[in-house]
Amino acid sequence: MAQDLYTHPDYVLLDEFLTDEQKLVREAARTWLKKEASPIVEEYFEKAEFPSQLIPGLAGIGAFGPYIPEEYGGPGLDQISYGLLMQEIERVDSGLRSTASVQSSLVMYPIWKFGSEEQKRKYLPKLASGEWMGCFGLTEPNHGSDPGSMESHYTDAGDHVVLNGSKMWISNAPFAHVAVVWAKDETGRIHGLILERGMEGFSTPKMMKKHSLRVSDTGELLFENVKVPKENILPNVSGLRGPLTCLDSARYGIAWGALGAAMDCYDQALRYAKERTQFGVPIASFQLTQKKLAEMITEITKAQCLTLRVGQLRNEGRATGAQISMIKRNNVEIALKIAREARQILGAMGITGDYSIMRHMANLESVVTYEGTQDIHLLITGMDITGISAFKRDEPDLSKMK
Ligand SMILES: Cc1cc2nc3c(=O)[nH]c(=O)nc-3n(C[C@H](O)[C@H](O)[C@H](O)COP(=O)(O)OP(=O)(O)OC[C@H]3O[C@@H](n4cnc5c(N)ncnc54)[C@H](O)[C@@H]3O)c2cc1C
Repeated sequence: MAQDLYTHPDYVLLDEFLTDEQKLVREAARTWLKKEASPIVEEYFEKAEFPSQLIPGLAGIGAFGPYIPEEYGGPGLDQISYGLLMQEIERVDSGLRSTASVQSSLVMYPIWKFGSEEQKRKYLPKLASGEWMGCFGLTEPNHGSDPGSMESHYTDAGDHVVLNGSKMWISNAPFAHVAVVWAKDETGRIHGLILERGMEGFSTPKMMKKHSLRVSDTGELLFENVKVPKENILPNVSGLRGPLTCLDSARYGIAWGALGAAMDCYDQALRYAKERTQFGVPIASFQLTQKKLAEMITEITKAQCLTLRVGQLRNEGRATGAQISMIKRNNVEIALKIAREARQILGAMGITGDYSIMRHMANLESVVTYEGTQDIHLLITGMDITGISAFKRDEPDLSKMK
């Protein structure tokens, strides 16, 4: 890959709203990522392999549980620093950010929010340092957008429960040491269970042939009469609220992250347009190129304002799930459009691995689907503003289907 010359666009001087600590966190992350991650990421994308040698460094920049308090081994940062970290990581690759998001918001967050004191002390420090990696099992082969209908279930067997079922599309599954798994008890109520690699009947086969998020390992979680000690059940939450609260935290980080991918595409396209000459002049001097770049920076700036504001609200504990849903949907949508436009500005070079634009584009096709598809986020906003849920409709009469 060409040398990583990234600088972030800041058209309306939003950096003036950041604290010195937030800027320092971003700078330290960027410096490390440019040195250690940018030079190897394309090679690992081609190999479809997670670069596990980056784990200690990711932990070092605070990417695993940025907001987890120091007493549990985390860096104890605020929500805007968390967002900036996800932005810097996804600016390099969405797959790397996915690994960090899952570890932070889908594994550490539920243990921190809903776990017992013993669970927090046992798992959080090891997850923060990257000694243990985690995954989050919600999606099932037959239940994606509608996780409430999940089939994974467990029965009471005295001092332990017996878990059966399966999960699919699980990031980090093939190498994770621990898995936070959502399953129903005998009454049909959803609970979170912490599984550890090595438990009998628990396997994590890798899913292959992904054309997107190739540096992030994805797998299945299979449970065949897995005996899970009762002390591994998260005691302080039940129902769909458990996984949905985790998704809010992850979606918030994804919103910042997708914007990072958009900013990287814009940065590369702008530099390329000024350097590339056709018809005797830089292609940046053509009005049609300027239109593309002007529209990109406008969308990036709008998204930066919206995202920073939701970050401020989240720091105050006032951000709603619907607001987070809006920034996730908006930022991924603009990032995909910007990646496509940037790819065009680079002409044929845009399809190569010498630039990260095509990789961002392919990655964003997963980011637009996981943690709620665009349709689901539109329905969340629709429900928020009308008060009417449109998630479920009456069963169609299949006999009349053409
Ligand atoms: C690379 C990758 C990593 C992932 N990592 C994880 C992970 O770590 N853990 C995890 O639990 N899951 C993970 N997922 C799963 C992801 O969250 C699901 O793919 C997502 O929720 C969508 O579910 P689905 O793919 O089953 O699509 P479906 O739910 O089958 O949806 C198919 C289509 O129908 C539309 N649709 C569904 N319901 C409605 C509705 N009510 N109204 C209108 N349209 C609707 C959707 O928008 C979509 O376009 C991952 C997915 C990918 C691709």
